[in-house]
Amino acid sequence: MLLPAGLSTTDEEQWVRRMLERLAAKEQRKRPSDDDLLDRARELSARYLDGRAAPSSVRWVENQLHRWGSCTPDHGTIRLSVRLRGMPAWVVDYVIMHELVHLLVPSHGPRFWALVERYPKAERARGFLEGFSMAASGTPEEC
Ligand SMILES: [Zn+2]
Repeated sequence: MLLPAGLSTTDEEQWVRRMLERLAAKEQRKRPSDDDLLDRARELSARYLDGRAAPSSVRWVENQLHRWGSCTPDHGTIRLSVRLRGMPAWVVDYVIMHELVHLLVPSHGPRFWALVERYPKAERARGFLEGFSMAASGTPEEC
């Protein structure tokens, strides 16, 4: 880290602390917490699903390497792969949206996709994730 010249030791410590706090805040914005995810899920449900999908929790999980997201409709819980961290918010929102719709419709039938398509960037986000999977593993994946 480059320090401005001419700082006293105390100023220097304060400056470093401030920079670290700023970095942590930036990191925080880039990687929404589980609570942030739940807020976003509720917003998406209200905006696109008339609030019908009522998630009880949304959290990041480490052990999901072959799917972007999963859910347990009986409990209203949604899990997102940590691999989505750092991806654009509209892509993460798409995966949340996909899982929200699964809370209402378990299978990938026409009724399912009709609801998913209410999210305006659904098509684009699917393309993004497909491209990402193909580049990473050579196989497309879906949840
Ligand atoms: Zn699915």
